[in-house]
Amino acid sequence: MYDVTSLKAEEFISDAEIRETLAYADANKENAELIDAILQKAAERKGLDHREASVLLACEMPDKIERMYALAQQIKQDYYGNRIVMFAPLYLSNYCVNGCVYCPYHLKNKHIARKKLTQEEIIAEVTALQDMGHKRLAIEAGEDPVNNPIEYILECIDTIYSIKHKNGAIRRVNVNIAATTVENYRRLKEAGIGTYILFQETYHKESYEKLHPTGPKHDYAYHTEAMDRAMEGGIDDVGLGVLFGLELYRYEFAGLLMHAEHLEAVHGVGPHTISVPRLKRADDIDPNAFDNGISDDIFAKLCALIRISVPYTGMIISTRESQEVREKVLALGVSQLSGASKTSVGGYAAPEQEDETTSEQFEVSDQRTLDEVVNWLMRLGHIPSFCTACYREGRTGDRFMELCKNMQILNCCHPNALMTLKEYLEDYASEETKELGLALIEKELEKITNPKVKKTACAYVHDIAEGRRDFRF
Ligand code: SAM
Repeated sequence: MYDVTSLKAEEFISDAEIRETLAYADANKENAELIDAILQKAAERKGLDHREASVLLACEMPDKIERMYALAQQIKQDYYGNRIVMFAPLYLSNYCVNGCVYCPYHLKNKHIARKKLTQEEIIAEVTALQDMGHKRLAIEAGEDPVNNPIEYILECIDTIYSIKHKNGAIRRVNVNIAATTVENYRRLKEAGIGTYILFQETYHKESYEKLHPTGPKHDYAYHTEAMDRAMEGGIDDVGLGVLFGLELYRYEFAGLLMHAEHLEAVHGVGPHTISVPRLKRADDIDPNAFDNGISDDIFAKLCALIRISVPYTGMIISTRESQEVREKVLALGVSQLSGASKTSVGGYAAPEQEDETTSEQFEVSDQRTLDEVVNWLMRLGHIPSFCTACYREGRTGDRFMELCKNMQILNCCHPNALMTLKEYLEDYASEETKELGLALIEKELEKITNPKVKKTACAYVHDIAEGRRDFRF
């Protein structure tokens, strides 16, 4: 039976409830009166539950879809402003004991190059990432208790935080590793991680079990209940996501929102982020072998609906998507973007050669440099932000949500974005990007409404040009 507050996966992600939701959405997809009422609720920034949002997803009326898009843009602007937080993934190890049929790291793949970074290699990777200008990483690893035990992950986090190269520093490490125990989540929290990210892959239990035929990840309940354990272990910023392409997108969308509702109902705080990965070609993986691929238009609609359904949850888009698709969804509510990513193990310090056996997890579509991405974002009117202040100031979980709900972004995240962009421009940017960025910062500083904050931000921006670093509100 469906119970949002249950701690059992099959009760808070009830298959029956999802099926009823989809039937309800089908029955109401042309019900203009209901759709207008749902859009009105979204316009009041109240968020939407999985049933309401599913009706909008099923609706194909062009004028209503236009309103969904306009609302998504407005909500993004009101709560997040025009800043986009930058990050890069760092692959630590691709040893894996699971049998995920969509991932080339699966145990039976004997031709992929298996690599695990040593601490020396991590220093080389992180130095290369710092030299690009990155301040925020998402570490990635396969699941392998022998090769990648929690002690290895913790040691890597320590190493990453310890590297200070020129003016560089990694100030926030997010972690994307397999579902684990409360005790291990506690240890990750103590190591100073930012967000714990775990993609559900699919909320459809039967498909989940088929897609994960072997290994510890086969256990649907253990995987689906991971965020509850993470929160029990003290991690209050967790990141959800499904891998679009594995199952019917409407099923996944309802499941994703039910998961968010569950976290809010049980822990008093919803997910910090939602990622929207789509299945990609990889070593021995052909995305065309999967039946549920989604078009770019459906993808954009999903992004817009996530934005209006959970206004205070960040949305992440990776380099799985092309420049063109990224440009489209940036306007619809994405708040975090990766740049210059490598999905191979060791790929930043030593990019893979054409004739080399790959260790990549999937092919990257957007292959531009970080400078090119930063330049492009600014030309589109966004502020690339390298800010990591919130969790360092203890603004995690509901404290971050409060900031967002009270629309304090303009007096906090916005100046932080400008100061960290200034650092980037001083230390890493090309001449052209620097010129563009300095003009943008001047213009954006004027928008800060609180006179005291504005004065301080202006002084800090000036001090950064003089060589000082790491200011934050
Ligand atoms: N092994 C961990 C786990 O089980 O969650 C860490 C995550 S893995 C390194 C990162 C994510 O990449 C996976 O959760 C999956 O959604 C995604 N992924 C795997 N294969 C992919 C593919 N072929 N295309 C796109 N994304 C893929």
